[in-house]
Amino acid sequence: MEKVLVSACLMGRRVRYDGRAKTSADARLATWREEGRLVPHCPEVAGGLPIPRPAAEIEGGAGGAAVLSGAARVLASDGSDVTAEFLAGARSALAAAQASGIRLAVLKEGSPSCGALSIYDGTFTGHRTPGQGVTTALLEQNGIRVFGEDQIDEAADYLRTLET
Ligand code: SF4
Repeated sequence: MEKVLVSACLMGRRVRYDGRAKTSADARLATWREEGRLVPHCPEVAGGLPIPRPAAEIEGGAGGAAVLSGAARVLASDGSDVTAEFLAGARSALAAAQASGIRLAVLKEGSPSCGALSIYDGTFTGHRTPGQGVTTALLEQNGIRVFGEDQIDEAADYLRTLET
């Protein structure tokens, strides 16, 4: 059975920067959980960041690939450089996925770690820009397809493709 990596905050875990969850009400995630498919993971906590923690954004709104290549940093709203923790978290997510033979993930949109289609633009003003988070970029560089929580139809189609 194909397993699915999922952002822990979508599964009700209170791991976000503000100490809250972003629990998804999607019925397919509930079904996949009952089937034992889901592997919840929070890269930022796995990378050593505390709960709560200052919000963080990728410098200049660059994508996660720029962070992986060393071309951009991840900065917290207090000005501290949390790039190392984000990279460690991304590596942890990849290791968790590979340990379960995972080929797809459903992650929290907009996050500097988990964003699939959009991230914040680095200005801490609430503006999003197209791009991927650091974990998403590393997973995709390693052949794992990442879908945002608003793309579960596509994720379900891809899962069916993998299982037929
Ligand atoms: Fe959720 Fe990902 Fe942020 Fe962790 S890093 S709180 S899993 S969006």
